Amino acid sequence: MSVNSRIKRLAETVLAPFAPLAWRARSAPRLLVLMYHRVLPPDHPDRACEQPGMYVSPGTLAMHLRLLKRYFEIVHLDDWARRAAGGQPLPRLAAAVTFDDGWRDNYAHAWPILQAQAVPATIYLLADLMGTQYSFWPNRLVRLLRDPRNDRAQSRWPDWLRLEIAAVACGSAASLPLSMQQIDALIARCKSLHTDTEMLGLLGTVDTRAVADAGNRDLMNWDEAREMSDSGLIRFGSHTRRHIRLDSRATPDVLQDEIRESRLAIERQLRTSVTSFCYPNGDHCPAAVDLVRASYATAVTTRRAWNSLSSDPHLLNRVGVHEDVSSTEPAFLARLALAAGA
Ligand SMILES: [Zn+2]
Repeated sequence: MSVNSRIKRLAETVLAPFAPLAWRARSAPRLLVLMYHRVLPPDHPDRACEQPGMYVSPGTLAMHLRLLKRYFEIVHLDDWARRAAGGQPLPRLAAAVTFDDGWRDNYAHAWPILQAQAVPATIYLLADLMGTQYSFWPNRLVRLLRDPRNDRAQSRWPDWLRLEIAAVACGSAASLPLSMQQIDALIARCKSLHTDTEMLGLLGTVDTRAVADAGNRDLMNWDEAREMSDSGLIRFGSHTRRHIRLDSRATPDVLQDEIRESRLAIERQLRTSVTSFCYPNGDHCPAAVDLVRASYATAVTTRRAWNSLSSDPHLLNRVGVHEDVSSTEPAFLARLALAAGA
C-alpha cells in the first residue's frame, strides 16, 4: 500500500466516525457545496475515456445524497445566499448540490435519483454547446491516448504533442495506451500552457477520426433541461457559452460575451431567471469577478472548502466528489471532513 493510500485509509478510519459530531458542535451556520460532473454507471463505455476526477456512479451519488440528508439540510445555493445576505435564520449545517457542464448523463442518471430523493440541485450549462456533438478537448485527448490503435500514428503527430507525451513518460518515448495517471498529468500541463481555444486548434491538427465517437452526444439538450427546470427541483446556472476559462488571458469582449450573454441565452431557452454562475476550471481574474457580481446573485469556484457567513457569495467554495475518492461512506465523510477546516 502506498504512503498516500495509507494516509487516506487513516483519515477515513479516524475522521469518518467523528466528523458529523464535530460539524454539529459548531454553532455558526455553514454551507457545504458539492461539485459533481458526470454520473456514469459502472458499465458505461465513456468511463474508458474519462478522467477519474470527473464521474461518480449512480449508486455512489444515491449514497451521498442519503448521507447528506442525514447530517445536513439540503438547500438551493441561491436560497442560502439570499437568506445569509438578508440576515435571516439559516440551518447550522446546509448542503447544496451542483453539477458542472450540463452532461447528458445528468439527465439520464442523476435526475431520476434527485427526483426519488427529492434533492434540489443546480446544474451549470454551456449555453452554446447544449444538445451539440461537442467533445471537450480533454476527452478528445483521452480518447486519442488511451487507444492502442493510435500508437503507429504517433510519428505523424505534431511535435508539441509528442513532446508532451515524452514529458509525462519521463523523457522516454511512450507507447499507447498511456495510463490514466499520465494523461491526467498531460492534461494539467496543457491547461497551464494553453487556452481552451488554443488546445482545440492544436488538437484539430491531429487526426482523431479513428477514435471519434460518431453520433455520441455528451451534453444535454434544451428539452431535457426544460423538463428538469419545470419540475422546480433543478435550477440552472451559467458555466459560460463555450467553457472559456476566465483568467487574465480572456479579453474584455470575451468576458462580456461568456458571462453576460450566456445568462441571457439560457434564460431565453428555459424561460426562467438565471442567477448563479460557475467559473470554468475555477479560473477567475478580477475583471471576470466584477462582471459576475454585476450579473448574478451567486458564483461558485473549485476551491475545496466549506462556506460560512463571511464567504463571498460570488466566490463560493466547493468540494469536488468523484468515484475514486468517495465510493464508500467513510471515504465520502472523510473527504468532506478534510475540507471542513478548523
Ligand atoms: Zn466545466
